[in-house]
Amino acid sequence: MPIYLDYNATTPVDKRVLEVMLPYFTENFGNASSRTHSFGWLAEDAVKIARQQVAELINCLEQEIVFTSGSTEAINFAIKGVWENYQFKGKHIVTVKTEHKAVLDCCAFLEKRGAKITYLSVDREGLIDLDELKSALSSETILVAVMYANNETGVIQPIKKIADLVHANNSILLCDATQAVGKITIDVEEEHIDLMCVSAHKMYGPKGVGALYVRRKGPRVSLFPQMHGGGHERGLRSGTLNVTGIVGLGKACELAKEEMWEDAIRISKLRTKLEQLLCETENVFINGSTKHRLFNTTNITFQGIRSESLINKIPNITVALGSACTSALAQPSHVLKAMGLNDDDSFSSIRFSLGKYTTEAEINEAISLFRKLLMELKN
Ligand code: PLP
Repeated sequence: MPIYLDYNATTPVDKRVLEVMLPYFTENFGNASSRTHSFGWLAEDAVKIARQQVAELINCLEQEIVFTSGSTEAINFAIKGVWENYQFKGKHIVTVKTEHKAVLDCCAFLEKRGAKITYLSVDREGLIDLDELKSALSSETILVAVMYANNETGVIQPIKKIADLVHANNSILLCDATQAVGKITIDVEEEHIDLMCVSAHKMYGPKGVGALYVRRKGPRVSLFPQMHGGGHERGLRSGTLNVTGIVGLGKACELAKEEMWEDAIRISKLRTKLEQLLCETENVFINGSTKHRLFNTTNITFQGIRSESLINKIPNITVALGSACTSALAQPSHVLKAMGLNDDDSFSSIRFSLGKYTTEAEINEAISLFRKLLMELKN
């Protein structure tokens, strides 16, 4: 069995999540919008529980959750929904060069439709400069999109400080928290986030389901729907609800709330061991802030060695070269480039992302295989 170290790409479904989902494929197969019979009511009740579970994890109201097919859809909905409803205020959007393609491609799409986009830079650590953000903001700025934690490096942005600046400017803050929700505590009230996406398959839930948090008060955010037909989700996102998926997302949120810190302590020890022992080799270094970073991720450059050739020699270890969503394209990572790495170093970098099923034995084996290979390549 290969050693799976690509949890930021996707996670296996927790068996407890699968168990609660299964009846909704078969005996409880009702449509949550069927108001006239018990099949529909059962499904509706299940969706209500899931909505509570998601809301509890991020500390918001149930009515502030809109179920989607995942983070890509939630991000599209948030950015295009703000664009269409707030254009009367201005046409300026601020984002960051290291965002996920879901954000960057939406911004590029709107740029062609007249939006003015500012792409903030990051430093060598992957962090944005708050002064640069402050000077980018204007009365025309309707939206600021900054991710919570980066999928390639795990670097965590100072969201609360960003939110303060964004709100002082009367703009809306969208936070892509796909990699952070379920791993660390996120409180949308405390951190004053207006829009935030969640994806089940990054937190031991099923693929193809997620949610967008939409703030109702202080400020109330109003989004123009992107899916029409049927008026589901209070008219914000039409389409028959994916009840099984939503039940799975809810359960994944409940488990994360209870267990995330226990997992974090164990996983961070393994991650530290992995990176420390790999970095003992010459010309091997970690990318991104080691202080402000998710506990499960490490992005390492093996200078002078193409990461592709490295992983081809160790097929038993599954890692990512760039981000999983863009790895079909043979291009250097836009995240590492924005952090100042040259193309060669970028092509020599590997993302290791650990998860709750990663064992110490697996990490020991990964370390030993990598170190052996690095020695061979050196000689
Ligand atoms: N944003 C980030 C930071 C991600 O890592 C991903 C997926 O890798 C996405 C958005 C897209 O999420 P989904 O797969 O739910 O569409």
